Order: sequence, then structure tokens, then C-alpha cells
Amino acid sequence: MKALVIEGARQAAIRELPYPEPGKNEVTIEVKRVGICGTDLHIFEGEYLSHFPIVPGHEFSGVIHSVGEGVTGLHAGDRVSADPSLFCGACQFCLTQRGNHCERWGALGVTKNGSMAEYIAVPAANVVKLPNSMGFDEAAFIEPVACIVHAMNRLQLKVGSRVILFGAGAMGQQLIQALSVSGASEVVAVDISPGKLAMALENGATKAVLSQRLAEEIKADPQYRFGFDTVIDVTGIPAVIETAMPYIGPAGTYLQFGVTPDHASIRVNPFELYHKDWTLLGSMAINHTFIPAFHWLKERRIQVKPLISKTISLEEAIPFFNEPKSPDLLKVQIEL
Ligand SMILES: [Zn+2]
Ligand SMILES: [Zn+2]
Repeated sequence: MKALVIEGARQAAIRELPYPEPGKNEVTIEVKRVGICGTDLHIFEGEYLSHFPIVPGHEFSGVIHSVGEGVTGLHAGDRVSADPSLFCGACQFCLTQRGNHCERWGALGVTKNGSMAEYIAVPAANVVKLPNSMGFDEAAFIEPVACIVHAMNRLQLKVGSRVILFGAGAMGQQLIQALSVSGASEVVAVDISPGKLAMALENGATKAVLSQRLAEEIKADPQYRFGFDTVIDVTGIPAVIETAMPYIGPAGTYLQFGVTPDHASIRVNPFELYHKDWTLLGSMAINHTFIPAFHWLKERRIQVKPLISKTISLEEAIPFFNEPKSPDLLKVQIEL
């Protein structure tokens, strides 16, 4: 089968790999759609947890092609998506609802070959069957929405909270929708792209601010003099994070959602952290949130189709990985 293989930092090629036969309690899925994620780009750049060679791709949907021994309730031809998380289920963290910190943590497309390939073998327990109303394009968003659901579980947003969010890309747009349906009052979106800000307003943001106008429009505005209840970074850019943190208000909460390079560091004022009773949160991938995300998407609480900027082939993904990305780009999907 054809697969996109990252063989080293900034080295990707289409290769012929053996068909992944389903093991015991596994199914092999014929991949139809794969979302390209910021994490894939970090892997390509050699700044994430993966070892090379690796087939990336952890946001996908497709059709079951073959079923391994011991699998019940799933059949060839079923339209499905799958949680890429590979948790051992037996360590101290798996046994205390912290599977995303599993001692033997793994994920399809990160530590094990993923879905930028014609076929992928996955544990049957990770699979959800899709209703006919859900397209393969939407189903490839269950994984990112599962990351959003985990972030919302981390935040425990109080109804009426005033929120500022930096980075209105594909994940930012989904978070804006999640915050809006979960009771935020104001959601201020900050980005460098006017197009993304216009979409943020359609998705429930109450105010949209160009990054270069942040000082005039927010810092200088008396209604924001005490900052925000919740500050979220979705950019993963250290300089943006240092700009964002001073907007955390008294007893406010900061959420690091964007993924920075693994060696990045930022400066935090520990006096402010103490004096303002700040809460600093991280949100790592998915933590048993794939099924709630599936339901959220199935009921269309979050609109994802408008987030697809373009659909490309597996071959076209190689130049896409290599080229500079437009600031207006949202989600790019691979169609197989
Ligand atoms: Zn992702
Ligand atoms: Zn574990």
C-alpha cells in the first residue's frame, strides 16, 4: 500500500509499505480522509515526540476493510473513525482517568504508523461507527474535537466567563464554538489574519482583534482593565504566550492549548501568579474524550465543514509539508 513516510526531520516521501493485517482485537481501515494537524508539521520539523521513520496522521475516517480475530460488532464496509490514542489501560495513570499520561503512552501517527496511508490497523475498541448523516470529511474532525472536549474539561469554564483567545486557526475556531455553547459571555479572538477573525465572529466570538492592534483595542480599553477570566493560547508561539499571559485577570485561568516546540521556554512573572491567584492549565491531546466529541459533532454543536480550506491528494501532501503556510489557511485534508 501507498503511505506518506517521514524519514527524518524535513524529509518526507511516498513509499510502498506492506498491508497492515489486523491483529487480535484489531480492524484494518481503508482510509478516506485525513486531516493535517499542526502536530504533523511539528513531527515533520523534528520537534515532537516521534521517532523516524513514521507515517503521520491521527485525524481520519474510512471504511473497515478487514476484521481481526476476536472482534465483535464491527464488519467490513462499516463507515468509521477511530481514536488514535494507544493507552495501555493498566498503568497507574490509565487506572486513574489519566490515560493521556499513560506510562506507555502512544498514538497512531505519533509513536506508531498513522493514517496518511491507504490502510491503517487500529484497536477495535478505539473505533466509532459513523451515522450516514456524517461525512468522512466531518468524521476526520472527531479527533481534533476530542482535544477540544479535553480542553473544556480542563477549563471547567464558569458560565458568564469573559475569555480572550489567541490564534483563530482551525483549533481556535473550534474552541470559540465550544466556549460559546458552554456559557462564555465575551469571547475576544486575536489573530494576524483578517479572514480568520471574520470567521471567528461567525463562530461566536464577540470581538475580533488584529494582533497588531491588541494594545489599542484591549490594553487601552477601560472595560478590559482587569483582564479576562480566561486566557487561552492556541498559537503555540512563545512570543504570543508572553503577550497573552498579562491579560489573565484576578483569580483568572490560563490554558496552554497550542503546541510549542518541545524545547521552548517563556518568562512568567511569579509575583503576578501569586498576587493574582492565577491558575495555569495545560491540555494534552485526548483523555477519554473521543466519544463525547463524536456526539458533539454528530449533533452539529460544532460546525467543522467551513474549516476545510482545501482537500489534497497524498502525493500533494509532500510539497504541502515543505511549503510555507499562508496565515489564512485553516484545515487541510488529504482525500485518499
Ligand atoms: Zn491533531
Ligand atoms: Zn497506561
